[in-house]
Amino acid sequence: MAMPLRQTVRLGGYLLKQKVLRKEKFPLLVELEPLFACNLKCAGCGKIEQPASLLKQRMPVEQAVAAIEESGAPMVSIAGGEPLMHPQIDEIVRQLLDRNKIVFLCTNAVLMPKHLHKFKPHRNFAWMVHIDGLRDRHDASVCKDGVFDQAVASVKMAQEAGFKVMSNTTFFDGDTAQDVIDVLDFLNNDLKVDNMQISPAFAYEKAPDQEHWLGVDQTRELFAKAFGDGRRKQWRLNHSPVFLDFLEGKHELACTAWGIPSYSLLGWQKPCYLLDEGYAKTYKELIEETDWANYGRGNNPKCENCMAHCGYEPTAVLATMGSLRESIRAAAGA
Ligand code: SF4
Ligand code: SF4
Repeated sequence: MAMPLRQTVRLGGYLLKQKVLRKEKFPLLVELEPLFACNLKCAGCGKIEQPASLLKQRMPVEQAVAAIEESGAPMVSIAGGEPLMHPQIDEIVRQLLDRNKIVFLCTNAVLMPKHLHKFKPHRNFAWMVHIDGLRDRHDASVCKDGVFDQAVASVKMAQEAGFKVMSNTTFFDGDTAQDVIDVLDFLNNDLKVDNMQISPAFAYEKAPDQEHWLGVDQTRELFAKAFGDGRRKQWRLNHSPVFLDFLEGKHELACTAWGIPSYSLLGWQKPCYLLDEGYAKTYKELIEETDWANYGRGNNPKCENCMAHCGYEPTAVLATMGSLRESIRAAAGA
């Protein structure tokens, strides 16, 4: 199964509006990073490698909301760092929901029990909990024992309180197709999260671990095996069928990183949150001052192994919405 219907309908209306306005580049979702600090030290995370002076900073609510407003994006994924360490994160979420944005709050879930009472269930709000595998695999990924059990308990607590809960899983080069199957079966059938997001690991420039990322052939082989025997259709994956086909190697897509840009304490990251080629002050400046033809696989050696959601899901969504056949497939979750 594919993206939730509400999200698909909302995106469809937004894309139609961009077409009428004849806009060529526009954001579908902004990755908002209102802080870089985190309560964990996962291997492979470059956010926490920022200088101490930056790790202390928290983005003011007005700045976060103004950036999203300026971009015009209909969806926001709030990450970090750990967003629950931001003292006004609930206010940022509230103000974005008041502006009719669809909001995903990403978290490692450790602080959820302490902060859950600050939030209310809302049809446009979902928790996005980071779970990279079953107990041993996840605890190894976040470099701390007990975090998997904490995350599972937090998900159940949020579900009991009436919240929509989604999961986000990154796969690394040590993961087998069976690892992918096991964690997605667990999230889908046992934990019963609403939707699941998946991502092949990619060694972005600031990541301290440059070794455990997946190459393109490896990624395709991993997902083709994992998705086989009809499993893909049984999982509530929060991706378009075209993007999942891309992960399996069924077809190629071009990178459209302007569709899922990243805004942090440093500004709008050029050209995407995986590469670090400077920052723009506004989304408009990001669009106008980035040489987009210079990015994507085949255009830039830094992009060669990238099959990331932020670069290729926008392309997949645009292809889906532009094709009646793919739209029907997306709605049917094929
Ligand atoms: S929980 Fe997320 S932000 Fe925190 S260290 Fe791990 S990957 Fe980085
Ligand atoms: S392919 Fe696109 S999303 Fe991936 S690193 Fe390059 S610019 Fe970023």
